[in-house]
Amino acid sequence: MDPSAYDFLKTILTTPSPSGYEAPVQQIVREYAAGFADEMRTDVHGNVIAVRNPGAALRVMLAGHCDQIGLIVQHVDDEGFVFIQPIGGWDPEVLIGQRLTVWGEKGPLAAMIARKPIHLLTEEERKQVPKIKDLWLDIGANSRADALTVLRVGDAVTVELRLEELRNRRAIAAAMDDKAGLWVVMEALRRADRAKLNCAVYAVSTVQEEIGLRGSQTSAFSVDPHVGVAVDVTNATDCPTIEKKEEGDVRLGGGPVIYRGPNMNPKLVQRLLQAADDNEIPYQLGAAGRATPTDANSIQINRAGVAAALVSIPNRYMHSPVEMVALDDLDRAADLLARFVENLPADAEFVP
Ligand SMILES: [Zn+2]
Repeated sequence: MDPSAYDFLKTILTTPSPSGYEAPVQQIVREYAAGFADEMRTDVHGNVIAVRNPGAALRVMLAGHCDQIGLIVQHVDDEGFVFIQPIGGWDPEVLIGQRLTVWGEKGPLAAMIARKPIHLLTEEERKQVPKIKDLWLDIGANSRADALTVLRVGDAVTVELRLEELRNRRAIAAAMDDKAGLWVVMEALRRADRAKLNCAVYAVSTVQEEIGLRGSQTSAFSVDPHVGVAVDVTNATDCPTIEKKEEGDVRLGGGPVIYRGPNMNPKLVQRLLQAADDNEIPYQLGAAGRATPTDANSIQINRAGVAAALVSIPNRYMHSPVEMVALDDLDRAADLLARFVENLPADAEFVP
């Protein structure tokens, strides 16, 4: 991973983008992709679409969603405590005790999320799983009026955004889902050798995946691709308490996961596997027996149908503030997609 690409990863991971509030991260994407895209546009939904070799008849869309799960300010009470709704699927237990940032118009505001201390929980309360409605934000305000000088209803909130590297090039940050995938699609576009391209490559930073695969729906309509590859994260199963018999065998650092199943076009999968084999890129196989909860789902059923695939980055502790990926898996996924688009002939056929 070269230093500018690493910087791009770090910057997108430390820039907020809860679903519907992606504009700051999309600005970073535009600045980075301007260095290698032939054309770029941002649509009214907020998707950023960067293209190389736009004149070619065969269109390939690589989609990585830039939105992350977050919270939204719902209500401020008389004492100045702030109540929230989730944006996307949180496990409330991983939120308790986190440092947060409210991204209001007056700039980032430090906050924290809590519930009452364990000493004060009743016997009954200790047995129950907390719900989001049992939690609140504390910004240090001493009244509702005080709080409303720095935030307002509808402001977006994230957990602390910080990238940290652990041993073996394993890195943790909030929102590796799916800034890892966003990084991969932009990096694949950058790494693809223009002289070898017989197709147009559209790297799309999609919005609002976490609330129903919405940005891939609007952007796939406008790009109208023949081939669409979603790059997302998938649960790594190489940590305690996860049953491989039920969840499959997905290892951090084992390479990107190429999925097979009804959400994937078999000829496209075959080409991806061939690209991995030809270039000695390690990969893992994954199985999905139904429509996946990823952009590959909406892309596959765009218009009259698209040859879809899903390439995933193994991720431990998904939808927590400390999602862990192996940086080597990101690199390999970017190489895989770059080699795939370079080798795709103009007359590639995907009808099963
Ligand atoms: Zn995702």
